[in-house]
Amino acid sequence: MNSNTSQTVMVVEDEEAFIEALVVGLRREGFGVEVARDGAEALSNFDRISPDIVLLDVMLPKVSGTDVCREIRKKSQVPIIMVSAKGTELDTVVGLEVGADDYIVKPYRIRELVARVRAALRRSNVASSGEAVETGASINVGDVVIDPEQHVVTVRGTVTKLPLKEFELLYVLIANAGRVLTRDTLIDRVWGSDYYGDTKTLDVHIKRLRSKVEVDPGNPTAILTIRGLGYKFERPA
Ligand code: CA
Repeated sequence: MNSNTSQTVMVVEDEEAFIEALVVGLRREGFGVEVARDGAEALSNFDRISPDIVLLDVMLPKVSGTDVCREIRKKSQVPIIMVSAKGTELDTVVGLEVGADDYIVKPYRIRELVARVRAALRRSNVASSGEAVETGASINVGDVVIDPEQHVVTVRGTVTKLPLKEFELLYVLIANAGRVLTRDTLIDRVWGSDYYGDTKTLDVHIKRLRSKVEVDPGNPTAILTIRGLGYKFERPA
């Protein structure tokens, strides 16, 4: 519990009942909690708070959760967990598309939420210490060069910036180019074996990667879906 005392969760939420439960629940687990009650407040306080993780409601007054996520991603790779009410899952998928790491649907158990928060923090700590992705020389397959040490991806000669999870997913795919990786393997390798979020997260990240890597994202030739199994990064013939 004490190991979390220095970690701050920024809760962006407009419903008092949720705020109260989150503040109590997260503090009890040893986290510091800062609350923003609308999207504008979240953005204006983000730099000052410098949170270790952001819990971001989708439906917010003034600036929506997805727009807040998009703005934060312009300057920070802080883990972001989107929170949506049932029926607004579509907004959450948009959230993943603009760079959120995970999402959880209301109503949730505080225990599950804390587990997700811890998992996201652990992944981000491992990643920033360089252990999540085996470091080594650049790998070049087809149009893509990926450099795990410099954390740089070059697609057809153009350097492309990728959010952390997309980078890790692409690295695992390319490091195993020509081999089919099951969904479970990919989720384990990129999100951790303790991940029990929605498996749609994987598909959304694949979609985002395709939009950056493929010549025609609607007709992928590099990142292939292997029906019923998983995905494969194709080696060019
Ligand atoms: Ca709300």
